[in-house]
Amino acid sequence: MENKQLKFLSNISDVLTREVDITELSENLKELLVQYINSKSIDIYVYDPESNTMRNCANNWDIVDETINSEIYGAFEDIEGNDFVINSKAYKLPHIVGDISIKIKSLFMPIIKSEKVFGIIKLEFETETLIDMEFLHLMKILAAQVSLKLQNIVLNEQSKINVEFHDSMKNIAKIIETQYELSYIVPIIGEMLDRFISDHLIYVFLKQDNEFKLVWPKACNDERVFETLKQITPDMESLLTNNDKIGAFPLTSEGEITGCIVARSTLDKLSKRDVSYLEQLTRQASITINRANAYSKVLQYATLDALTNLNNRRQFEIRLSQEIAEAKRQGNPLCAMMIDIDFFKKVNDTYGHASGDEVLRKTASVIKELLRESDIPSRYGGEEFAVLLPYTHIDEAQIVGERLRKAVEASPINVDNKTINVTISMGLAEFRIEENGEELFQRADKALYEAKESGRNRVCIDKSAKL
Ligand code: GH3
Ligand code: MG
Ligand code: MG
Repeated sequence: MENKQLKFLSNISDVLTREVDITELSENLKELLVQYINSKSIDIYVYDPESNTMRNCANNWDIVDETINSEIYGAFEDIEGNDFVINSKAYKLPHIVGDISIKIKSLFMPIIKSEKVFGIIKLEFETETLIDMEFLHLMKILAAQVSLKLQNIVLNEQSKINVEFHDSMKNIAKIIETQYELSYIVPIIGEMLDRFISDHLIYVFLKQDNEFKLVWPKACNDERVFETLKQITPDMESLLTNNDKIGAFPLTSEGEITGCIVARSTLDKLSKRDVSYLEQLTRQASITINRANAYSKVLQYATLDALTNLNNRRQFEIRLSQEIAEAKRQGNPLCAMMIDIDFFKKVNDTYGHASGDEVLRKTASVIKELLRESDIPSRYGGEEFAVLLPYTHIDEAQIVGERLRKAVEASPINVDNKTINVTISMGLAEFRIEENGEELFQRADKALYEAKESGRNRVCIDKSAKL
């Protein structure tokens, strides 16, 4: 073998003995390949049997789109029992291209464990490149060595968790597209962290009025956690204290601390891997929370709720005070309706938050469809809807309410080939000339509470004595 090739192989071994994650590994390999064989890129794809897809390991385990990158799926299928796929044809050494040289732009090699192919390496060249047998032999050694290394990093439990983690992150990103309430987002992040990091207690703090407020879970009794919080600065990715048993991971936005995720190990100290993993998670959570914050600023000026297209809470308050003023002036009747979806938490828990969102959207549209043009429906918060019914007495409101309740009950919602049955509970109150909007809805809310208490899927009317 030539000197140059030997050097290449020894450099490859060097790279492969370092303790690196898969992103660093492909970066390092790429550097070497560019130097020695003028390749443009190296990509590592691993087959995920769970989802029956190829995933790009160095790129957040993203699923490779089969329609756009059919070449990758094709090569993965063709390479079983072979050494290379070149120009859509599979080859096996030694009896391949013979001594002739061929021009190629890209080259696929298998990643193998116990003679089974579990992924492929793709080499891409800047321009059409002439290759020969010697080159292919060299690449075969490279593929074998990389396979060994990848078995270690790719096939362990952590990577499975990684895949799930990145999928969840993407799911969350999706939720954030339509949701902007931190009070809703933070618990999801907290629960997710909790699920992915075992043997640790996780706390999520957000900074409000210059102080750290615990937002997930409900309580933290460990004084050391609060002590640790005092020591963090925006420039640190993490801070370990108490014999490395507590790790603090600041959430930042434009160089300022906006919150902190704290992990407390319940067993040994936090390992290097725990820390690196939590740093990743915190970075993602930071982005998610910052995005929600930015989004909520934009939406302060919007009038419609992004998910349901009903009036948002802010717009609702404005319409409420207008309608109250109008009712007081004209003396026309006005009713308040509070609606809450029954056992909605169970929908999220059973079918996922994305399906929960779909249920919210559909329920809102059923409600909106049955109301009159002059009625004012709104998304009051999470899974609660408030409706104002101008020119309406309580007995009419009750008829409308019953109609809504029955319609929701009779409209199963199809999400991802599953049918979700939903019911709503409702509280009604008729406006009294001496009260304000807030008091009116307090009474409707009280009636709603009664509807829940007396079994759900029903309409209750506030019957409290007149003031
Ligand atoms: P009940 O019949 O007593 O109303 O039970 P419930 O489960 O509906 O009540 P609870 O108030 O405990 O749960 C409401 C859930 O709604 C909790 C929260 O995670 C979820 N939620 C709030 N906002 C949203 C949202 O925008 N999208 C989704 N998918 N879920 C939401
Ligand atoms: Mg509720
Ligand atoms: Mg509910």
